[in-house]
Amino acid sequence: MEVYVDPELCISCGACIDICPAVYCWGEDGKARSQFELIPPGFEAGAREGMESCPVEAISEVFTSDQTQAAGQPERLASSTRSPDQTP
Ligand code: SF4
Repeated sequence: MEVYVDPELCISCGACIDICPAVYCWGEDGKARSQFELIPPGFEAGAREGMESCPVEAISEVFTSDQTQAAGQPERLASSTRSPDQTP
């Protein structure tokens, strides 16, 4: 598992670091970052909790191409956004 903290989105609230300081820390830019390039297996649950705590969704899980293939293609749901035709 890899996580990425987008410094453009991070508002430096510290929630992820409070929840999982083993994974998240402050970077020199005052934004949160992951301490690991590859999250050790024992820290994955904490990394996810920290990710879910982010109020601006600045943290995302990074999938390698191998992981994407293993997970398969995402299922697309059929939906219609069209509104019914209106008669004049
Ligand atoms: S929870 Fe999100 S906004 Fe807050 S410090 Fe962490 S990455 Fe930044």
